[in-house]
Amino acid sequence: MATRVDAVVLQNAGRLEIETRDCADPGPGEVVVAPRVVGICGSDLHLYKEGRIGDSILQRPLVLGHEAAGRVVAVGPGVDGLRAGDRVIVEPGLACGECRLCRLGHYNLCPNVRFLGIPPTDGLMAGLACVPARWVHRLPDSLSDEAGAMIEPFAVGLQAVEEAGVKPGETVVILGAGPIGLMILQAARIRGAGTIVSIDLAERPLAVASQLGATVTVNPRLADPLSIVRDLTDGEGADVVIEAVGATPTIRQAFDLVRRGGRITLVGIAWEPVIPISTNRIVRSGLQVRSSFRYAHQHPVAITLASAGRVDLLAPITHRFEFDRAPDAFRYVEQRKDEVVKGVIELEASAR
Ligand SMILES: [Zn+2]
Ligand SMILES: [Zn+2]
Repeated sequence: MATRVDAVVLQNAGRLEIETRDCADPGPGEVVVAPRVVGICGSDLHLYKEGRIGDSILQRPLVLGHEAAGRVVAVGPGVDGLRAGDRVIVEPGLACGECRLCRLGHYNLCPNVRFLGIPPTDGLMAGLACVPARWVHRLPDSLSDEAGAMIEPFAVGLQAVEEAGVKPGETVVILGAGPIGLMILQAARIRGAGTIVSIDLAERPLAVASQLGATVTVNPRLADPLSIVRDLTDGEGADVVIEAVGATPTIRQAFDLVRRGGRITLVGIAWEPVIPISTNRIVRSGLQVRSSFRYAHQHPVAITLASAGRVDLLAPITHRFEFDRAPDAFRYVEQRKDEVVKGVIELEASAR
């Protein structure tokens, strides 16, 4: 028997509505989760504004949201280890588990993945959501629901520094101090990065970056990142540059900031479909250009580090919105990009 629940539904680009939907009973291997806190992610804003992100195009109304913490309310047949009332988070990339990449452990690259809240798969900004139990992680009592909702972006940060191969003592430049840039910063600090430079065009996220342990913050409107990074590295450039913006100027700048033989890791999804870069420069300077896409096996690590107090998951959260006001929240966040670092939607305790 289906339950009626309210959900935040993107009807088409720019039009978000609270809509009542059916939530089915959990099938075999599934659980029903009642989200309490759901983060508003850059990809949600991409979808909201453009009706698409990358190759994923909105074809029908879609429930948004992939950064959620909540409670299990019902458990389907054959589910072990989860019970009604458990505090949980949902890992939103539902990989197939069968393909070669999944079997190799690189399930972030699964070509058959269904990602909650990205077309065509409905997400978690709803009173209830039915999800496969294997993608549900229990949340320790030491972590709040808000912290739980931030585990997903932190997992992105952990994956990025792992792909970048950050080593103790290295100089790491992070382009972008949005929620993902701030999570990368904390992950780099945990891995023992020496000097961490955080670069952003807005002051508010830079203030959070300082608070979270950036050695130096730079606003390119006020100072030249290149001369600052050169000063910090005896003119050599950074060992590692991680790009977490996805804009043409910052992607280009990554190549200016890195040292000879250094590593660039691209995390941001670019708005431009094609950005010219000099391959000769990559070859002649011995650069390693890498990428980091989502995460694999990082959620349990993220939960452990967070419950050990190694990371401040709440610092990026600057705005909290009630579920009923979610459509306004998106408009607000979209219009005040410089002021909002991370916004979250808070649901009432009871399922609607
Ligand atoms: Zn996200
Ligand atoms: Zn797969």
